[in-house]
Amino acid sequence: MQYRRRAWAEIDLDALTHNVKMIQEKLSENTKFCAVVKANAYGHGEEYICRTLSELGIEFYAVSSIEEGIRIRNYCPEGEILLLGYTPPECVNLLIQGNLIQTIVSVEHAKKLSENVPENKQLRCHVKLDTGMGRIGIRANSERCQQELEEISKLKNLTIEGIFTHYAVSDDDSPENIAYTKKQEDLLFRTVEQCAERGILFKHVHCLNSAGICYHPQPKSTLARAGIILYGLKPNANLAVPMDTRPVLSFYSRISHVKMIHSGDCISYGRTYTAKTSTKIATVTVGYADGYSRLLSNRGEVLVHGQRCRITGNICMDQMMIDVSNIPEVSVGDVVTLIGKDGNSCITADNLAELYGTIGYEVVCGISKRIPRIFIQQGKIIHEEELF
Ligand SMILES: *Cc1c(COP(=O)(O)O)cnc(C)c1O
Repeated sequence: MQYRRRAWAEIDLDALTHNVKMIQEKLSENTKFCAVVKANAYGHGEEYICRTLSELGIEFYAVSSIEEGIRIRNYCPEGEILLLGYTPPECVNLLIQGNLIQTIVSVEHAKKLSENVPENKQLRCHVKLDTGMGRIGIRANSERCQQELEEISKLKNLTIEGIFTHYAVSDDDSPENIAYTKKQEDLLFRTVEQCAERGILFKHVHCLNSAGICYHPQPKSTLARAGIILYGLKPNANLAVPMDTRPVLSFYSRISHVKMIHSGDCISYGRTYTAKTSTKIATVTVGYADGYSRLLSNRGEVLVHGQRCRITGNICMDQMMIDVSNIPEVSVGDVVTLIGKDGNSCITADNLAELYGTIGYEVVCGISKRIPRIFIQQGKIIHEEELF
């Protein structure tokens, strides 16, 4: 089938399995692994990622929205699924039907959710505590914090199973930011202690994201919400991950056309590239509509026959051009590696991110629906997404 693919992503499920094992080895006995599979499993394809994790016996999953939660339920029938983001109170029935665990973003949110719970039913919740991220949650440093947590705990239709916080700078190794993360951690556990004194108990208390797992281990956290490291990427491109994880995703395209151009000839929209000398140019069947950012125009590199080739001119919606002067044997149909390994060369999502000023997260999440994901396990293709 691959011959007719103009561009595709390969998802290495063995790398995923390996990463889970590496991460689990780092966690304390008290801490359960929670796979963050929001945003189509960071662009990797949620269905086969979740089925693989489910086979590994992973119990906890985190997603961002109710739509994601309802879909993930099909792949992890027994899983505990935590929705990390806001859900409108009108959706309570769907949450209960899907046995989904909702995050409470504020006391008002909790009250409205509770009002919408049908008789004789309960909505499972974790309370979000805002210790310094400033996004959602009860503000931990406000005077009303304890009172609000008490109000929430008294709502009859909500079963409060956990409380958690999210770090803002756990991926940064400056002394100020290390102290900031420590302060966030202390605020969470201090709040939990104060609650305990008033008889409010939580089964789950958690603070770890990927960078927390790597750089701020906390054995008391009952869950570790691992996102980016599960997919073998780094929370911070400049800091090593202290585990042997491997990238799960590779991204490929093909050459559709090869030609010689000469001094003064231009390439692509806007004429931003002019040949200085005779140059061999190949056209590649991928563009910004595939999630290969136009910001990589005249900057990015790809791999062909294990060699680096520069992008020439502006990237188009569905195609782009590269300089293949250094590859005598290049021909139409050859594979172009956009992210991944070819021979001894390698391009990572973090490399691309750095070139256009973003993070690896955005690069993989941005690979568009038009790119079929091909899932590989033990050297065999186990599933190929079909686009028609
Ligand atoms: C996305 C998210 C995570 C995972 O973050 P990574 O840096 O990818 O590990 C964890 N917790 C919350 C609340 C999130 O929104």
